[in-house]
Amino acid sequence: MTTVSFRNIRKVFGDTVTIPSLNLEIEAGEFVSLLGPSGCGKTTTLRMLAGLEQPTEGVIAIGGQPVQDLPPAQRDIAMVFQSYALYPHLSVAENILYPLRKRGVPRSQWPEMQRRVAQLLQLDALLERKPRQLSGGQQQRVALGRALIRNPKVFLLDEPLSNLDAKLRAHMRAELIELHQRIRTTTVYVTHDQLEAMTMSTRIAVMNGGVLQQFATPDEIYYRPSNVFVAGFIGTPAMSLVDAQLARAASGFVARAGGLELRLPSSALIATAGTEVVMGLRPEDITLGAGPLRARVKVVEPIGHETIALLDCGGAALCARVASDMPLARAMRAGDEVPFDVTLAHVHVFARDSGLRLNRDGAAAAAPARSRAAA
Ligand code: ATP
Repeated sequence: MTTVSFRNIRKVFGDTVTIPSLNLEIEAGEFVSLLGPSGCGKTTTLRMLAGLEQPTEGVIAIGGQPVQDLPPAQRDIAMVFQSYALYPHLSVAENILYPLRKRGVPRSQWPEMQRRVAQLLQLDALLERKPRQLSGGQQQRVALGRALIRNPKVFLLDEPLSNLDAKLRAHMRAELIELHQRIRTTTVYVTHDQLEAMTMSTRIAVMNGGVLQQFATPDEIYYRPSNVFVAGFIGTPAMSLVDAQLARAASGFVARAGGLELRLPSSALIATAGTEVVMGLRPEDITLGAGPLRARVKVVEPIGHETIALLDCGGAALCARVASDMPLARAMRAGDEVPFDVTLAHVHVFARDSGLRLNRDGAAAAAPARSRAAA
């Protein structure tokens, strides 16, 4: 198992600074997702690690050894692309063995290496087929097999599931998690799909505009987003973000946003009265049906096991979720006024000017300890 480091990495294309300065330390055996909106620099970061792109400045190290000046073939990495890039005229077996042929691995070693990969990825029955005779998921497994056969130090995946339909994606997601649990090869995975990143990663690097926003476990990112961008980007439906101002109250602060008025203990925040803030409320932290607050229902969206309600609380737009088997979920109509309450310990507060989190660590929300361990 191998570590991967990006130290003060800068990437400039022409006059455009795509990545101003990236620092990222990936531990041996981790599954790290680079997650962010289109154009945030995920693929460029992965391509620099693969050696397909040269950083303008900085050091990239694999297993402690600087590699930024080495060609891809000398980095001991394997990459799987979105397109799979299989050779159509070669069989599954020939596709998988191709990297061994290219690198001059003695033929006597091929059968054992092929057997290991075919077994790992359940490709035994498909070895004689051509790629066109395979489903999308099977092609994906062949592409993984071709990458795995050399036992690379680092495994790089660039949106490998995005060509698959929703059901197959979910299936392949589970397969990739299981595969990583078995082989424990350090993996860097590019995706713009937060569900993939949340379910598969030991840690997620959230990027925006070429800048790393947070690098933490999925739980940490969900329960303690470090800034407004991460808060709004992670979570479906998204966290409701409303502008508010902190005023002094008897036992701390009162934050007002439209008709929403929440009392927050001063021990919960690193802030002073008068601070302009953005308050963040996750849909599950709003309890509909009882409580001291009132909101008007604007839209009701039943999505099977739960019902999403878009609310207007005196000008503050909120989103709540109710289990669909609750009588309220069936009775609620657009235009109704509903009482609600907020789990105050889970309210996120960010500075409006910097976007940074103002909750004291551990005070906002306790994340359950269930993240995937690296090793
Ligand atoms: P997507 O999810 O759309 O693939 P991404 O986060 O992977 O996006 P990158 O492909 O890394 O983003 O691109 C980051 C920025 O760098 C974009 O603005 C892109 O236009 C720019 N860029 C990438 N490659 C080049 C290049 N070869 N020349 C000039 N600009 C480039």
